[in-house]
Amino acid sequence: MGAPPQLTPEQRSAALLKAAQSRKRRAEIKIKIKNGEYSIDAVLELAQSDEAVAKMRVRELLEALSGVGKIRAGALMEKLNISATRRIAGLGRHQIKELRSEFMKSSHAVRPGKLIVLSGPGGVGKSTVAALLRKSGDFWVSVSATTRSPRNNELNGIDYFFISNDEFDRRVKEDEFLEWAEFAGNKYGTPSVEVLDALARGENVLLEIEIDGAKQVKSHLPQAILVFLEPPSWEELVARLEGRGTDDPERRAHRLELAQEELAAASFFDHVIVNDAVERVVTQLISFTS
Ligand code: 5GP
Repeated sequence: MGAPPQLTPEQRSAALLKAAQSRKRRAEIKIKIKNGEYSIDAVLELAQSDEAVAKMRVRELLEALSGVGKIRAGALMEKLNISATRRIAGLGRHQIKELRSEFMKSSHAVRPGKLIVLSGPGGVGKSTVAALLRKSGDFWVSVSATTRSPRNNELNGIDYFFISNDEFDRRVKEDEFLEWAEFAGNKYGTPSVEVLDALARGENVLLEIEIDGAKQVKSHLPQAILVFLEPPSWEELVARLEGRGTDDPERRAHRLELAQEELAAASFFDHVIVNDAVERVVTQLISFTS
């Protein structure tokens, strides 16, 4: 590669202005994709005549699409042999065709999202999996309501909606929960409207709930995919539960007892996954949505 051309100060500021305008244009397009105003087809078409759009990275385009997060985008690019830094302009004809057909179904009519219910004994690592999936953007992860008090590191509205017992009972009476259950002396419930709305928008939804709740979801929404997360061994589960500094000894003993009962429920579930590597669990959950 030769040395870059020497620019005059005027040429340099014109180039910087153009780059800033291009970035702004790409940001606008990404918002339109996120809002569902532009389909992948529309953006690929636009890139033929709009230089700023042509320079958008394929990864950015995919991650802006509803229901596609970092993990799914990465997997798709690998499948279609598109390198991580490729821009739209650099796509081959074959790759464009394949990308179009991947998204054909979802760009014309909104396909309802898939509902995955992740369950399993306390301490098996469900919340770590759910947090990863939320961060990746591949799932809309439901936030439950609970009467339990927040643990040190927990935030209202993020980890749970922490509500009073009276408020919980009122919501049960008003039929505001898709399911609810009591667990270790506290009540937990999945807000119904938010979940159904997300599914209708075409988002894949993840519920991270205990076993009774999972069974209730299946009876209301038989299309739900029930996934049971199993520990690699009983010893590993005990170690994890005992290592939790957040519960007092009596509570921990009770949770161990519960875990024993919970492990027996695996056969009710559509899939059983052993949580020996969290990345593998995440990839498997994503594969259930296609
Ligand atoms: P923790 O108190 O450890 O956060 O959660 C205790 C148990 O309640 C876990 O098994 C968790 O998956 C479950 N859980 C959390 N939210 C809900 C919910 O909305 N409904 C039901 N049925 N269980 C939940």
